[in-house]
Amino acid sequence: MARRRIIAGNWKMNMTPSQAVALCAELKDLVVNDAVDVVYCVPAIDIVPVVEAVKGTNVHVGAENFYIEDKGAYTGEISAPMLKDAGVEYVIIGHSERREYFKEDDAFLNKKVKKALEAGITPILCCGESLEQREMGVTMDWIRFQIKSDLVGVTADQVKTIVIAYEPIWAIGTGKTATSDQAQEVCKGIRDCIAEMYDDATAAAVRIQYGGSMNAGNAKELLAKEDIDGGLIGGASLKAEFGSVVNA
Ligand code: PEP
Repeated sequence: MARRRIIAGNWKMNMTPSQAVALCAELKDLVVNDAVDVVYCVPAIDIVPVVEAVKGTNVHVGAENFYIEDKGAYTGEISAPMLKDAGVEYVIIGHSERREYFKEDDAFLNKKVKKALEAGITPILCCGESLEQREMGVTMDWIRFQIKSDLVGVTADQVKTIVIAYEPIWAIGTGKTATSDQAQEVCKGIRDCIAEMYDDATAAAVRIQYGGSMNAGNAKELLAKEDIDGGLIGGASLKAEFGSVVNA
């Protein structure tokens, strides 16, 4: 069974609510593509207006974060059931910025994956190596560790529904892209890891994205690779260029 492509934008901490609505209007006709799942992962404050703004279009809304409890005394946090109720269908988990700046470790990320699935939200689970790790030759060891730790206790049927994003840290927001061969090698390594942990059917079903300075110029080559089913896009998701990536 062919895997459906998924192109997701990660807006990060950009776009006020009014800017977000304007961006949705600007991108509306540019991101139309029936063969692709298009997702905008937006800051929490933009979720409600963006859900409203993309009604009737092919765009799905994702969140960038949530906390692992359903409700209670966690001042400042939002929960997975809150996201679900607001119309969120995807959520980014394990982005390298959250791992680094907010010290989210794999045990915590595993709880987030399970909580998102319990709430009926599709995790976009990020993994990726630093430049130092790549140079040391431990890229695949590190990524296998992340995937195995983040998926503890997650069933094969659940894994079939999730999205995994391979994002080499050295390529995020730097303008340096992994070559299509480098990206394919790791995405295949992730699929092989899933096959070992679960089975071939699960590995064949899970969708794997590449992320790291993907743009209109390099998307086509990256997306032509067998094990790359889509992209997670930061900088280029905030402008008209995102439409070219969706249609690459
Ligand atoms: C990201 O933040 O997930 C990302 C891939 O960013 P950029 O496209 O800007 O490198």
